[in-house]
Amino acid sequence: MGANRAVWTVVLAAGVMALAGCSDKGGAGGVNADRIIAADSTPGDWISHGRTYSEQRFSPLEKINTSNVQDLGLAWSFELPENRGIEATPLVTGGVMYTTSAWSIVRAFDAKTGKLLWTYDPKVPRSTGVKACCDSVNRGVALWEGRVFVGTLDGRLEALDAKSGRLVWSKVTVDQTKPYTITGAPRVVKGKVLIGNGGAELGVRGYLSAYDAKTGEMAWRFYTVPGKKESDGSASDEAMKKARPTWNGEFWKVGAGGTVWDSMAYDPDLDLLYIGVGNGSPWNRDIRSPGGGDNLFLSSIVALRPSTGEYVWHYQTTPGETWDYTATQHIVLADITVGGKPRKVLMQAPKNGFFYVLDRTDGKLISAQKYVASVNWASHIDPVSGRPVESPGARYEKALHLSNPGPLGAHNWHPMAFSPKTGLVYIPAQEIPFPYMQPGGDKANFKYRPQGWNVGIDFLVAGLPDDEAQLKAIRASLKGRLIAWDPVSQTEKWSVDYSGPWNGGVLATAGGLVFQGNATGEFSAYDAGSGKKLWGFDTQTGVVAPSMTYEIDGEQYVALMAGWGGGFAVSAGAGVDPRSEGPRRLLVFKVGGKEKLPARPVSKKEFMDLPPSSATPQQIATGTAVFAANCGVCHGAGAVSEFSIPDLRYSPTITDAAIFKSIVIDGDRSELGMVSFKSLMNESEAEAVRHYLLDLARRQKAKQVAALGLASKD
Ligand code: CA
Repeated sequence: MGANRAVWTVVLAAGVMALAGCSDKGGAGGVNADRIIAADSTPGDWISHGRTYSEQRFSPLEKINTSNVQDLGLAWSFELPENRGIEATPLVTGGVMYTTSAWSIVRAFDAKTGKLLWTYDPKVPRSTGVKACCDSVNRGVALWEGRVFVGTLDGRLEALDAKSGRLVWSKVTVDQTKPYTITGAPRVVKGKVLIGNGGAELGVRGYLSAYDAKTGEMAWRFYTVPGKKESDGSASDEAMKKARPTWNGEFWKVGAGGTVWDSMAYDPDLDLLYIGVGNGSPWNRDIRSPGGGDNLFLSSIVALRPSTGEYVWHYQTTPGETWDYTATQHIVLADITVGGKPRKVLMQAPKNGFFYVLDRTDGKLISAQKYVASVNWASHIDPVSGRPVESPGARYEKALHLSNPGPLGAHNWHPMAFSPKTGLVYIPAQEIPFPYMQPGGDKANFKYRPQGWNVGIDFLVAGLPDDEAQLKAIRASLKGRLIAWDPVSQTEKWSVDYSGPWNGGVLATAGGLVFQGNATGEFSAYDAGSGKKLWGFDTQTGVVAPSMTYEIDGEQYVALMAGWGGGFAVSAGAGVDPRSEGPRRLLVFKVGGKEKLPARPVSKKEFMDLPPSSATPQQIATGTAVFAANCGVCHGAGAVSEFSIPDLRYSPTITDAAIFKSIVIDGDRSELGMVSFKSLMNESEAEAVRHYLLDLARRQKAKQVAALGLASKD
């Protein structure tokens, strides 16, 4: 008897110790393949970028639903000091939230109270910003066995300890002398951390790498496009034998492109990893691959074996890509019934404006239709060949072509959501037409420029006019919509119109709700079945990120990283709604939440006293062209920057030739991100840019003064 009791005591003690040792099993320490595959059995957590490997961004939580969403209020918030685009999806497990901000900064919070637990700043040199096409954004972290993984803007993959935020290992995943950047969230499959990169606007060769989560050793690398050499000694060598004959000329010179900068999904049953591949580098195929060719695997969805990186199949959405029509957009996996048959599908709404439903077992096209009616580069996708039927002139080889979509896409990175309950895909769609033209009207004018954008088109024709009436017409042509799309019938079920493009990513829930923030700062909940608006909240900033949801102690929360930024925000200048600019915050909501945000700060821009003009018309014309080719992608088309990057029309630096030169040519502000542009313009061209900006400010100030004069007479 006594002996038996002693045995039981030992067993019980061992059990308690085992529990103590695994106390983080429900937290980041327990995140592994089994837990991500079985994510639906712990619906209160959100442990992978798209919640599940299928990346549906659908939560089974339903405590917040159509009957009580009206009472949703702020539970807590955190003011982000990084004054740039905010694109991350927070992850939550074990009561802790892990998320990222601009410049790849990682933070952990108590997800119930909002208490900041730790911050990890990878100290990305701000001069990296000039390599990023689309702002210094980051889309979030991955979790695996007690570690937090982040890709940094300057190309590192880093593993942090989930409890302390301490750096465990760091690997440089790119050639940092080249314009590579990382903005995407890593995913972890079978113990391998997967990370791609961006940079195809400036000129790089794209690839995806897999690193061992424990040690940080690289397991494999898959290049998406061929290089100069026949072999890289990489997982992609065999696939490149297939891809190389689809290219012409010295395509490797600028880099060829094909960056894997955002989407991935994984099917554990088929053991297939799906990656979305980006645009060509340069965009213009006529320059990149003279004489044509499909240029595999640009703008493709490629299926790989996650253990080895071995190629399995691909589907190319835009053969011979020439418009920046990436297929890096969100990939969603679902099991749906098509034509009475259960199908394992992969769905994507890439930039090119067609919604694709593929059989994800073999990559065969099931159906493809325009999800935005104004698409004009192709009439339809041929169902037999799976290829687009292009419109005459769309390739702008001989003449300018006004295309819809433009390079910002009919849908960009902003994630969609798929609700298995409604069977609908919710797409943050947009219309931003764009005039494509050969550089200066002739492809012979293309010259590779290190550090510059090397897209091989004419940016001057895409510049925005100064005339208010023309601008108004252009603004009116920019559209944004939330579309509820039936992937079976390939038709729209309902949609919500916004005042412009570049609205936030989407979340769908079992509570019958669809959440989306928009460019003018409203975060809304819609009825997933009808599109009826049920709730709205003024975030005080344009929203681009998707929201996510989690549950702690029986209470459901909705979290949103609110903060304007990204490609359209930085480049579109006067096309951006002034209401978009505002404070960046992490906002967390619950039913009955009572917290309030401080009043929205008022920003007031006033023109300075401007010196009289000493410039020649030729100088101003030169300055206009040099600005459009080099500066507008960050400081805004037409030098309008409703953004944290300085609006140069109001900058005192333009009134002083010596200071302007010290910044633009000598790089005096490179630690702030404004590197020297002397490889891209000489001193007299920089001075011409200054005169262009002064002239612009002078003319706009005169108009403003005249308008005020009229107003005061009323
Ligand atoms: Ca691109």
